[in-house]
Amino acid sequence: MKTDTLAIHGGFESDGGTGTSTPPIYQTVSYTYKTAQELADVFDGKAPGYIYTRIANPTTYALERRLAQLEGGVGCIATSSGMAAITSVVMGLLRAGDELVTASGIFGGTVSLFVNTLGRFGVKTTLVDAGITKQFAGAISKNTKLIFVETIGNPRMDVPDIPAVADIAKRANIPLIVDNTVTTPFLMKPKEFGADIVIHSTSKFINGHGTAIGGAIIDTGNYNWSAGPFKDIRHLAERAGELAFLAHLRNLIYRDLGGCPAPMNSFLMMQGLETLSGRMQKHCTNALSLAEYLKGHDKVRWVNYPGLADSTFYGRTEKLFGGRGGGLLTFSLGDKEKAFKFIDSVKLAKNLANLGDAKTLVLHPASTIFHEFSAEEQKRMDVTEDMVRVSVGIEDFEDIKNDIEQAIEKAFEVKE
Ligand SMILES: *Cc1c(COP(=O)(O)O)cnc(C)c1O
Repeated sequence: MKTDTLAIHGGFESDGGTGTSTPPIYQTVSYTYKTAQELADVFDGKAPGYIYTRIANPTTYALERRLAQLEGGVGCIATSSGMAAITSVVMGLLRAGDELVTASGIFGGTVSLFVNTLGRFGVKTTLVDAGITKQFAGAISKNTKLIFVETIGNPRMDVPDIPAVADIAKRANIPLIVDNTVTTPFLMKPKEFGADIVIHSTSKFINGHGTAIGGAIIDTGNYNWSAGPFKDIRHLAERAGELAFLAHLRNLIYRDLGGCPAPMNSFLMMQGLETLSGRMQKHCTNALSLAEYLKGHDKVRWVNYPGLADSTFYGRTEKLFGGRGGGLLTFSLGDKEKAFKFIDSVKLAKNLANLGDAKTLVLHPASTIFHEFSAEEQKRMDVTEDMVRVSVGIEDFEDIKNDIEQAIEKAFEVKE
């Protein structure tokens, strides 16, 4: 099946009993077995079966299969949030004394996890500019165990040359982890460009309606776990083969950290996936139209959108995403005061800290998601005081444009 079909039919056929056409919500903590021996066998891995929803759940399993199919991966683990997905992966791969290399213009929560939280456990993070591929190679030491990038850095809107970064990771024999949240499998499948592990915050475009938090980890099958620098996973690979990393997470790290999704939320994510294709197309066309409109506006200082033909990253947007720039853009009206006035003046668009909703959303990143970072750190991540981020929704474009237009005018009104 093709991507658009898998998004609707993948991972679930029917429960065999009622003929339900949508995945049932298995709202249960645990699963009953007739005999003590049967349950003991499931614990021992001698018989298949569900034990406890923190480890696995049938509703969540349907979502995991659908996401694995959409990304062309060997398997998937769904998590309670995007952060839980990233935390599980890094906790599963790193030990005290290890290092990781990450693009710097990425989601603030991820940078904080790496620098602050992992820093407390003796892991060192090196931040590099995603636009400059050779910085990745230069940052790798003998202790580096993984490279992390986002397909389009949020909010810097930079696009790493993923195949080239994958080559660098391959030469160092370490996995490349790609956060595909803002592009989704409809704009790109990181596996095809050499990614080893794909991350999603399903809270965003996949959910699509701002109704549930969730995340996912997909192993693309590109990485050979039996030959990597991860001793425990190498050992597991003798039995589990290409599923070694996911088995390591499922039976140890993910199980121990406890970041499992609620079954209801897994259901909402599957429902979101059914319409993701159509929504992504509209997000992309609306965002491109808005970027072009802002570009031609005499009061707009700059617009950053990787789908604009004159963007520094357009070559990579063409190569990786088929020329589609996604639903996010940033722009400037000159300073923070005007950014705030603009946000205070929008009527249709909502001022909130989310993205990928069907609704158009606006945000001032510097004073919100990045508020805990110093001015110097913000500068390094290109989060400037004048930056406004727009997650362009799927409303009628004229309505979006009219709302943005009147809010820009208000931002420039002088007080009497
Ligand atoms: C939101 C986001 C995350 C974190 O996901 P949550 O579901 O909010 O925990 C990670 N990466 C990117 C690119 C995001 O936009």
